[in-house]
Amino acid sequence: MINIAKPLIGEEEKNAVMEVLNSGQISPGKKVAEFEQQFAAYIGAKHAIAVSSGTTALKALLMAHKIKQGDEVIVPTLTFGATVSPILFCGAKPVFADVDPDTFNISTKSIQEKISPHTKAIIPVHLYGLPCDMKAITEIAKDKNITIIEDACQAHGAEYFGKKVGSERPAAFSFYATKNMTTGEGGMITTNDDTIAKACQRARNHGQSVRYEYAELGYNFRMTNIHAAIGMAQLKKLDSFNTARIKNAKFLLENLPKSVKTQKITAGAKHIYHLFTVLLKNRDKALQVLNESGIESNAYYPIPVHKTKLYQTLGHNETLPNAEKICSEVLSLPVHPAVTEEDLVYIAEVMKSICESQS
Ligand SMILES: *Cc1c(COP(=O)(O)O)cnc(C)c1O
Repeated sequence: MINIAKPLIGEEEKNAVMEVLNSGQISPGKKVAEFEQQFAAYIGAKHAIAVSSGTTALKALLMAHKIKQGDEVIVPTLTFGATVSPILFCGAKPVFADVDPDTFNISTKSIQEKISPHTKAIIPVHLYGLPCDMKAITEIAKDKNITIIEDACQAHGAEYFGKKVGSERPAAFSFYATKNMTTGEGGMITTNDDTIAKACQRARNHGQSVRYEYAELGYNFRMTNIHAAIGMAQLKKLDSFNTARIKNAKFLLENLPKSVKTQKITAGAKHIYHLFTVLLKNRDKALQVLNESGIESNAYYPIPVHKTKLYQTLGHNETLPNAEKICSEVLSLPVHPAVTEEDLVYIAEVMKSICESQS
């Protein structure tokens, strides 16, 4: 089986974990602080705050920006549910935007239509590792007191006009096992704002800035030294991992049948291919053929978030046609760093036979 994702754990990670275990300092501490410094330097952000997941990174950022009941937060409906649930946990209302039919990222036109006097934030998602059209999004939000929080959980090392995503405005990263770098579970916040950084640190640790003084509502979103040690070893490999993903994606772009539609690259964007995604008319049949051929393939995502049971129950009966169409046709193919050229030749071959049988 050629898996869709594969965590690449080597001797470096194992040794780093053993070092922490042998030290006895396993809870949050020095290793976490080192990992934060290294991640901030890598991204080019002033601060990095390590947390327990990408979900809690988004939650802490919303708390730090004081998002509360009565506020609206605009999100794309083509994303993982974790982009949206932290908004509900803050008591605020998610407002779903449609996506661009070519890039599959949040549509700036749709954002414009969804902005109201209650809009407090927009969470663009750099879907599959492709940066959003941030110039257009910042232009829309300008002069309206709307915060932009980037969901960079699939975009570690992705760039927009030569700068890493997460270097210019608050962003959330995930280190779940399938992501471009992993700590098993884990997350990171980046920001250039001292006040937001401090607020995220308090949100992560029960609202404390002084021990046992609960200044405001917080929670436990902390990362352990064990996870941080794995993270530092992975961060050293991130660029080479991304280079391999880009090379694999390029091979597929060149060798898949020309009729297969893929993401259009946004102007100024460096895509780091967390996922390599195509559209196919007869998607479910194609998924079956691929998986039966030993190529693990999945739909990310089969249902737009607003169409899922929770959000239907909450009254989200809007129609977002581009996302709904993409969800019915979308399919991702393996391009992670352990995929070999032989695997890619085989994937291209199976895709060719799928397309021939469909036409
Ligand atoms: C993975 C992911 C998250 C959540 O990250 P976790 O670490 O799993 O909590 C959020 N948004 C997107 C787009 C993701 O892919």
